[in-house]
Amino acid sequence: MALLSEELSVVERKKRLRHWYESGGPFPLECRGLTCEARTRAGTLCKQRNLFKSGRCRFHGGLSTGPTSEKGKRSSAKNGYKAGSD
Ligand SMILES: [Zn+2]
Repeated sequence: MALLSEELSVVERKKRLRHWYESGGPFPLECRGLTCEARTRAGTLCKQRNLFKSGRCRFHGGLSTGPTSEKGKRSSAKNGYKAGSD
């Protein structure tokens, strides 16, 4: 018997990974072992498995795009500020 993960395309499994990030709940078993698969500078496929919502690893478009809420933008603007420096 073929595993469920072998019957679904990578695109479909990444779609489910994104859905899981957005809706929570138990981790979808068919998303186990998904790899980033971005093309590396060596020309091979990236094998990182620690994927973000985007379905990519931290090297290939998985990092945060920064604060989006007003509160987050305000607190990030304060980073590095030293009291009495101005
Ligand atoms: Zn990657």
